[in-house]
Amino acid sequence: MTMTAELSHVARMADRAAGFQPSPVRAVFDVSMQPGMISLAGGNPYLAALPMEKIAAMVGDVVAARGLDALQYGSGAGTEELAELICRVMELEGISASPENVQITAGSQMGLELVTKLFCNPGDVVIAEGPTYVGALGVFEGFQAEVAHVAMDEDGVVPETLQATISALKAAGKTIKFFYTIPNFNNPSGISLSLERRQQVVDICRAEGVAIVEDNPYGLLSFDGDLKPALHTLDPDNVFYLGSFSKIFAPGLRTGWVVAPKEVRGRLQIASEATTICPSVLSQMVVEQYITGFDWRGQIDTFSAVYAARCHATLAALAEHMPEGTHWTTPTGGFFTWVTLPEGCDTDQVLAVAIEAGVVFVPGSAFYADGGGRNQLRIAFSYAPADQLAEGVKRLAEAIKAALGQAS
Ligand code: PMP
Repeated sequence: MTMTAELSHVARMADRAAGFQPSPVRAVFDVSMQPGMISLAGGNPYLAALPMEKIAAMVGDVVAARGLDALQYGSGAGTEELAELICRVMELEGISASPENVQITAGSQMGLELVTKLFCNPGDVVIAEGPTYVGALGVFEGFQAEVAHVAMDEDGVVPETLQATISALKAAGKTIKFFYTIPNFNNPSGISLSLERRQQVVDICRAEGVAIVEDNPYGLLSFDGDLKPALHTLDPDNVFYLGSFSKIFAPGLRTGWVVAPKEVRGRLQIASEATTICPSVLSQMVVEQYITGFDWRGQIDTFSAVYAARCHATLAALAEHMPEGTHWTTPTGGFFTWVTLPEGCDTDQVLAVAIEAGVVFVPGSAFYADGGGRNQLRIAFSYAPADQLAEGVKRLAEAIKAALGQAS
């Protein structure tokens, strides 16, 4: 009886729900929890690097001193104080924005959802790097937007390919709404867009009338201190910028933001109010305390040093254990490296063997909307300690060798 009712509910769902899939990252979450399993899958920040007692005191102070506001509904745009501070944070990447261009959201995931909701009709095209963030693909799917990927090399998206893709889509009569890009320490590839290409990409999009959505949660987590100017600095009127405190502070606060020209920001607020009424005032006030009363830039250095050491351990283990014909990226920041196996080696199949061997990762096909990435995989080095990363890579290499028929 219950079964029949459930089936008919599914049949009645809107077209936009047809493509809803569990996230491939969350799908391996339960497996990651098995005893003895090493996870190279989830890109969780290493929160143990935060001084929890100080953070606890900060939260307590906010409630004690400002509880009547912190626990109340607030402005749909977010607090003015935090919008001001966000502008200061963004100055580190050269952005000069004013608080009235800032819409605060429950994480940058929500920012992307709002932008897509505002711009995409079913059948519109979003251009994205190949590979791209799996959570972004989920958003585009939810609004029935089509995704056209543009290939990257070690310097990021290739401008000529971007141009050719735009031209081909237009020739096919498609409506392109925006180019979604993660220019710094891309999730999942770890690749950053070179300085020279930033201007080219911005110029192409401006000339073609395609907006840019710049998703930048990892930009400040540079291993060598090199911070490239945000695309937003090059064309503020055509770039919608997504920022987040998830990686430079803590994802549990669910606090991110969108920077957009005034007429877009106003509509984002209306869309945001329809979803959450207002971003959590408590979270915003805790973030305000964090930025004004704590050495947050020192904390970014602490986080970056942890991730740099873990990245180093991962790359060393890859060099030691991976079979011939395997390649990987060399990130200079962020959480991820991207591994390409010999042609024909299917990482969905490798995953089953790897889980048996006690290691889990996310197969490359998760990061493409078009079935690409089959011989690729993502390794997250942000969460597991260096010795576990090394052991995990060793187990992974054995699983790959088994798939290639080279088991030792
Ligand atoms: N964009 C990218 C590229 C990400 O990697 C993530 C988180 N993994 C997000 C957006 C969402 O982050 P937030 O916690 O700010 O919603």
